[in-house]
Amino acid sequence: MATDSQPISYSIVIPVFNEEAVLPVLLRRLDLLLARLEEPAEAIFVDDGSKDSSPLVLQDLARRDPRFRYIGLSRNFGHQVAITAGMDAAQGNAIIVMDADLQDPPEIVEQLIAKWKEGYDVVHARRLSRAGESPFKRATAHVFYRLLGSISSVGIRADVGDFRLIDRKVLDALRQMPEQDRFVRGMVAWLGFRQTEVTFHRLERAAGETKYPLFKMVRLALNAALGFSDAPLRLAIWCGLAVSGLAVLYGGWVMLLWLTNDSHLIAGWSSTIVIVSLLCGMNMLMTGIVGLYVGRIHAEVKQRPLYVVQKRLGFDREEAVAAGPAIRAVHE
Ligand code: UDP
Ligand code: MG
Repeated sequence: MATDSQPISYSIVIPVFNEEAVLPVLLRRLDLLLARLEEPAEAIFVDDGSKDSSPLVLQDLARRDPRFRYIGLSRNFGHQVAITAGMDAAQGNAIIVMDADLQDPPEIVEQLIAKWKEGYDVVHARRLSRAGESPFKRATAHVFYRLLGSISSVGIRADVGDFRLIDRKVLDALRQMPEQDRFVRGMVAWLGFRQTEVTFHRLERAAGETKYPLFKMVRLALNAALGFSDAPLRLAIWCGLAVSGLAVLYGGWVMLLWLTNDSHLIAGWSSTIVIVSLLCGMNMLMTGIVGLYVGRIHAEVKQRPLYVVQKRLGFDREEAVAAGPAIRAVHE
């Protein structure tokens, strides 16, 4: 159990948005989990602008029990921002993010911790199955993870949500990524470090309704695609090249018919089609080229660090002489 005198080993971050139905059972299971953990732990609830009684329950708990903390956001900022706020406040050496609805079973947290103790810096919890979700959600999630995996270059794992453990040094690196449209699982994948996974069967929501309606899912998917791939920007280039290429081929064919006085040639129509499709293709190509520059601006605007240092050895003397506080900050 955490006390003020002992440093905290584990921070469990739980975003909460109108979850009053599930809180009683969540708190019971969390209590059991915290009691089983050998090292001191804290649970940080981030109230993402709930309109029900969740904030009251959680504030009351945070006042009574030193293991529980409460952060109330001023309005609903969305799941990804809520978990960021919780991680920012975490004091532990390992930080675990899990949903409030017990679809991420607290018991798996112990498996995540076991892997961390083996020396992994990031431990993802991968879903082997998803109970209680509509066929539509399962199908869209399946397509989403595979599509994202194929267009993104950072190796985002399939069927991994935000249920994971990260080491303190990964969190420190994550906090250097100030991007506004956050897709946390992509950002963690981008960071690297020693990553592994444990698998689990995703359960049904313990109570209440999903807080991820279709529009929030679409927004998350768009954030993922736009933040971790420039494939959509390059799409215009390939379309442009294809259309222009076809226009040139068709133009050649029309010339051939014209030269051979072929009766299939429709005067006026063919030349119009060639010109229109050629212009259209050129237009798309140019848009694509502009897209490449926009992509670069987009990368700059995200202000991600250029690289992340995992370890530094033998630098102490030089550092003491030449390096400023910025370098010392990333030193392990
Ligand atoms: N959540 C949040 N803000 C939101 C939407 C959801 O903090 O705007 C929380 C929610 O309370 C839950 C977690 O994010 O703890 C995942 O949401 P949910 O279980 O509704 O998503 P699903 O499992 O249906 O995808
Ligand atoms: Mg859920």
